[in-house]
Amino acid sequence: MRVAVYARVSTHEQAEEGFSIHAQRERLQAFCVSQGWEIVEEYIEEGRSAKDLDRPKMKKLLNDIRKDHIDIILVYRLDRLTRSVLDLYQLLQIFERHDVSFKSATEVYDTSTAMGRLFITLVAALAQWERENLAERVVFGMEQMVHEGMKPGGHSPFGYHFDKHFHCTILENEAKTVQRIFDWYANGLGYRAIAGRLNQLKIKPKIAKHWNPNSIRDILLNDMYIGIYRWGEIIKHQNHPPLIPEQLYHLVQKRIASKTTSREGTGKYPLTGILRCGSCNEHSMQGYHDKREGKSYYRCTICKKITWDKRILDPILEEIERLIPALDLMGRSKQTATGNKEQELKDKIKKIHAQKERWYDLFTADNNPIPKEVLFSKINQLTEKEDALSLQLERASNAHDINDPTLPTKTTIRENYCKADAFRQKELLHSIFEKIIITRERGKNQPLSIAYSLK
Ligand SMILES: [Zn+2]
Repeated sequence: MRVAVYARVSTHEQAEEGFSIHAQRERLQAFCVSQGWEIVEEYIEEGRSAKDLDRPKMKKLLNDIRKDHIDIILVYRLDRLTRSVLDLYQLLQIFERHDVSFKSATEVYDTSTAMGRLFITLVAALAQWERENLAERVVFGMEQMVHEGMKPGGHSPFGYHFDKHFHCTILENEAKTVQRIFDWYANGLGYRAIAGRLNQLKIKPKIAKHWNPNSIRDILLNDMYIGIYRWGEIIKHQNHPPLIPEQLYHLVQKRIASKTTSREGTGKYPLTGILRCGSCNEHSMQGYHDKREGKSYYRCTICKKITWDKRILDPILEEIERLIPALDLMGRSKQTATGNKEQELKDKIKKIHAQKERWYDLFTADNNPIPKEVLFSKINQLTEKEDALSLQLERASNAHDINDPTLPTKTTIRENYCKADAFRQKELLHSIFEKIIITRERGKNQPLSIAYSLK
């Protein structure tokens, strides 16, 4: 087995403790020893983020894979490799083509089976979705910085550059693109069409590789483009030069609002587009709202059979939860296991301290019974033992990394789903499922069966 090890740390992580390249390498080497594997090459990426694959060591790794130099790629954790579902897809395809399997030293992914590959993409999709939701919430903590006239972390919005003193420069090329996006939308193009057009014109967003409907929507909703700076509750007008005339901006807002309310569709009915009727050859189903009942339903476009949306959504969320418990369980059981082990180690170290103490006490006692050499050799023995235990303790504590807050757990999925707006809900469901087929006999309370295929 020719094993390649890939370790990565971002500039931000470098500043944090316990996630050093050193810790990752140590863990990976130990893993290889336990499996009887030999490392043929280490790819160590320092100060690089995983937002794309444009990293020197990643490129070298992919090159070596293409030359068929590698059988297994081992990482400390999936997010060392990538944080993007699309990139992960791409990587897994390359791995598969070259018969390379992928292992994480702390997670249960196994790409040698179809189920394993599916699981890994699902987890990454969920993690990405959660991270994006989290990013929105973090915004509130930054209000204080705005008060102090500092620029909150992160990148300048597309079209602008803010330096660290919060001075704003307009980036002419990007600004032109922003104006085009607003014009196109005002002239009837949708998010998807605009994203497609920009990609076709090879115009790149600031960070991501491609435009998507989501990024277009974010730009259209961003009132920075009329000179407003806003973090949470704080609003600063005429903070910087606008890119879009206010009139155009408000026209666009009106159009966005009218689309979401009048069509009531895309937003409110997150399953539209993936939901299929199992009673009639999988025809698509569309959501509608019954004002009298105050309930929403999905109706088959052909056989007109209707089903209450809650009856569909509940089992789907359950299904998503069922797809991740392996991960959840693993996280928990390991935590208690290492938790106990940590306590044990700490107790042992404490005992050694007490023993050392006793030796020192003896040595410093008035009627000192022991020669210096004896004391030193005893102390050295104890220190050696202590060092070994400390190392074990450090390893056990590192195992806590497995409870990565960016990985979803059973409870956070449902909670976050309910908290998310309709747009995000739709985004999540569509990123996991290719289609969901519901089948039910006629009659309101007949049992419902759900089949689905994942993306
Ligand atoms: Zn039907």
